[in-house]
Amino acid sequence: MTAIDMRRATYRDLSLYAPDRAPARIDLSDNTSAWGTPPAARRVIAAGSEAARYPSLYSDDLKRALSKYTGAAVSMITTGCGSDDVLDSTLRALAEPGDRVAYSAPTFPMVPILARMNGLTPVAAPLDEIADIGARIIYLCSPNNPTGETTPRRRVARLIQRLSAEQVLVIDEAYAEFAEDGLVDLAVATPRVILTRTLSKAFGLAGLRVGYAIGDPLLITEVEKSRGPYKVSAVAERAAIAALTEDLPWVREHVAIVIDNRVRLSKALTDRGLAPLSSAANFVFVPIADAVSIARVMRAQGVAVRAFEEPSGLRITVGTWPQISEALHALDEARAQCE
Ligand SMILES: *Cc1c(COP(=O)(O)O)cnc(C)c1O
Repeated sequence: MTAIDMRRATYRDLSLYAPDRAPARIDLSDNTSAWGTPPAARRVIAAGSEAARYPSLYSDDLKRALSKYTGAAVSMITTGCGSDDVLDSTLRALAEPGDRVAYSAPTFPMVPILARMNGLTPVAAPLDEIADIGARIIYLCSPNNPTGETTPRRRVARLIQRLSAEQVLVIDEAYAEFAEDGLVDLAVATPRVILTRTLSKAFGLAGLRVGYAIGDPLLITEVEKSRGPYKVSAVAERAAIAALTEDLPWVREHVAIVIDNRVRLSKALTDRGLAPLSSAANFVFVPIADAVSIARVMRAQGVAVRAFEEPSGLRITVGTWPQISEALHALDEARAQCE
C-alpha cells in the first residue's frame, strides 16, 4: 500500500527556516545583545516562577508595562512569543488565504516564510509601488534588516496616505531602540497601521521570546484572537516586566555603546576600501563580492557573521569592541584568501 501524502499543498514546498546556528567563538550573526541578560530580568529568571499553573491569558501585566514604556494605551497592545509570533498572528488575523503580502527587498527573510505558512502570497516590490500591487498587507521594516537603513518618516506618512481601505501597513521596528526616531505615534494615530517590536535585541532577552504589537484596538483584538491564550510564559512575562521597569538604564547604556561601536566599525570598513551602508540598528551591512565564501573563511577562524547573496554582502552584529576587532581581523584574512 502506498502512503498517502498528507502534507498540505501550501506547505510541501516550504523549507524549514534553519540558518547556520552552529556555535562560534565570536557570534556576530544574529543581532542579539553581546552584553548578556540585563540585571533585573536576570534576577527574576534566577528566582524562577510558579510553573504548575498557566500564565496569564493575554499578559495583561506585561501590556501595562509596555504601555508605560511606549506611551500607547493598553487596549492598543498585544504580545507574543517574540515579534516573529506577533507577525505570524497578524498575517493570519488580517489576511485571507490567497491574499498578497508586499515588501521591499531585501528585508527580514522570515516575512515571506510567515506569509506562505499562512497561505498568503509574498510579493517583493519597490517601496514606491508597494501600495499599488493589490496587497492586503504591506510589510515595512525600519530600521531594515539586513541593510540597517531607515525609511524616513515622511515616506512612511506618504505610504500611509496611499493605503486603500482594504490595506494594512505592518511596520517592523525590531531595532527601534538603536534609531533616532520611532514611529509608535503613527501606529497610535492611524487605524490601519500595526507596529511590531521585540525584547530580543536592545533588551537582551532573545531567549525569553517576548515581542509585541501596537495598533488600533479593533485590529489588535483580531491579532489577539489569532495568537491565542497563554502564549507568553509566566517567567518570560515577569522577566520582561522587570526589564521594562528596572533595566531601562542598562538598555540605554548599552545602546549608547552599540552606537559608538557602530560608528567605529563603519569607519574601519570604509578604511578597508569597503562601502558599508548607513545603519540605524545594531548591525552593519557591508556589500562585498562573494559574501558566502568570505563568511565561510571567517567562520573557520571562529567568527560568525551573516552572509547574504542578493545583494551580496555581510551583516555584522555590533558587539563589544574586542569582538569587532577580531571580526575585522578575520575579514582581512578572508579577503586575502578569497582574492
Ligand atoms: C530579530 C528580528 C525580529 C524578531 O525577533 P523575535 O526574537 O521573534 O522578537 C523581527 N523582525 C526583525 C526585522 C528582526 O531582525
